[in-house]
Amino acid sequence: SRFTTEVMAGNQERTFIMIKPDGVQRGLVGDIIQRFEKRGYKLVAMKFKQFDEAHLKQHYIDLADKPFYPKLCKFMSSGPVVPMVWEGKDVVKMGRAMLGATNPLQSNPGTIRGDFCIDLGRNICHGSDSVDSANKEIALWFDKTELASWSMCTGDNVYE
Ligand code: UDP
Ligand code: MG
Repeated sequence: SRFTTEVMAGNQERTFIMIKPDGVQRGLVGDIIQRFEKRGYKLVAMKFKQFDEAHLKQHYIDLADKPFYPKLCKFMSSGPVVPMVWEGKDVVKMGRAMLGATNPLQSNPGTIRGDFCIDLGRNICHGSDSVDSANKEIALWFDKTELASWSMCTGDNVYE
């Protein structure tokens, strides 16, 4: 490949994306993963597992003073979820754009939430809101040894 290490470094931003219990129940796992794959982003880590409420309370710790926090954490631990790490250029911001607005009634059609959801508390997918949050969330959900180190053969066909 003609990429220098320097050029590749800019394409190595990472975000934490998680399909929520409602997304799993509704059979949308494949669709959501496919959107990130098709866009050209690289999957670095993934699990399929139910996590306890304490873990979800830690994940949503910044929302601890919100009235919906207990209900949110309880729901998020009610069934298996699909936590993932995706990598690529501007993936934190693009991940949020692909998800759509938090409130599905304000999410544009074409986005994950805009295509599949109606209610705020059933918006099927989580995405980190900043590079800083992404780093914290990745560290909370994955051990370093669970992050795969691999290069995609898409190479020059995704990045110029
Ligand atoms: N949420 C809720 N009621 C609210 C606001 C948020 O149930 O009034 C839920 C919603 O599912 C959202 C999650 O809490 O996805 C986390 O809220 P945040 O503001 O971080 O939105 P997000 O980053 O997920 O878009
Ligand atoms: Mg958030």
